[in-house]
Amino acid sequence: MTYEELRELDHSYVVRSYGRNPIAIDHGQGATLYGVDGREYIDFASGIGVLSVGTAHPKWTAAVEKQAGRLAHVSNLYYSEPYIRLAERLCTRSGMAAAFFGNSGAEGNEGVIKLARKYSWEKYGEGRGTVITLNRSFHGRTVTTLAATGQDVFHKYFFPFTEGFRHADPTIDSVKQAAGHDVCAVLVELVQGEGGVFPLDKGFVQALAQLCADRDWLLLVDEVQTGVGRTGALFCFQQYGVQPDAVSFAKGIAGGLPMGGFLVNEKCRHVFAPGDHASTFGGNPISAAAACAVLDILDDGAIRQVNEKGQYLRDGIEALGVSCLGKTRGLGLMIGVEVQDGLSNKELCAHLNEAGLLSLTAGPVLRFLPPLTITKDEMDKGLAVLKAALS
Ligand SMILES: *Cc1c(COP(=O)(O)O)cnc(C)c1O
Repeated sequence: MTYEELRELDHSYVVRSYGRNPIAIDHGQGATLYGVDGREYIDFASGIGVLSVGTAHPKWTAAVEKQAGRLAHVSNLYYSEPYIRLAERLCTRSGMAAAFFGNSGAEGNEGVIKLARKYSWEKYGEGRGTVITLNRSFHGRTVTTLAATGQDVFHKYFFPFTEGFRHADPTIDSVKQAAGHDVCAVLVELVQGEGGVFPLDKGFVQALAQLCADRDWLLLVDEVQTGVGRTGALFCFQQYGVQPDAVSFAKGIAGGLPMGGFLVNEKCRHVFAPGDHASTFGGNPISAAAACAVLDILDDGAIRQVNEKGQYLRDGIEALGVSCLGKTRGLGLMIGVEVQDGLSNKELCAHLNEAGLLSLTAGPVLRFLPPLTITKDEMDKGLAVLKAALS
């Protein structure tokens, strides 16, 4: 079908909850995608940070095909090998103790919020269910994770939101001000993604971890976007020198198939007992086999290269000398680019997409989340499109 035919059918039969670019993608390889009209696009978006090993990586495709032909689903009423192998790998490489699998980032965050509330309930009883989150954060689109999200633009229409969230600025004074006897946890992204690619200050994060330890609040880290190598370590917390009590993940974990969940430390591994928490599709064998392939591809060497690639791209962007772009920020291949005052980052992003570079926005900036396996050649092609489109 042509782009025009697809758009017309979409508008006839699909809920219009998305503002889509006027592009229909058909297939791809690595960080290069092709539209239904055969046009080439360089992928600096990864389907919003999901395509961690690019499109159609041969090892990933083989793992998915093999598992699809063996066993697609059995539910969590039975054991199956893929999710168990995945849990072992995630724990071994992160230093966490145990994993829970669901399907999305929001579901991972709902899980860690429930974990903190149950941990506190068992130890201290009722009335200690509040979770502190940060201003400019983003934690998901369910009614509870919207409430957790520290941006007023998300707090509309869908009232009543879930109770028990308080927002603070990323300073210890502000967190202490938000604190009360009712707090059980703090939930943070270490690099605020959707809010505008703002890395938290290391000193603040370490002081926050200490405050959590002092008050027996759980330190919950939302690694839905920063996890799985995106920032140059398997999990971003490993670069901040802190040990969270629980870490949520999703986006890049299964390289394009739906999977989310969370990891817990030793202290929290027995908080949930059978029947306390569940997800029908959680630990789905195909998604889990895909995730094992992602972790194979993203070995320590590949993850080290993420920092080098990120630096190469940031240097390349800053060296373009186009006046509409400003400074870059971020960690690894999670890159925010400031845009000139008076210009709209959304309009620039739409322009880049049409020029052949799939790009994102976040808060006030342009955001680039290329596949972690992107090649130098693909990065150079992307920079060339950027230069031609914005000069
Ligand atoms: C994308 C994102 C979410 C939501 O993930 P979904 O899979 O869309 O539910 C939550 N937290 C962060 C930090 C994210 O970037």
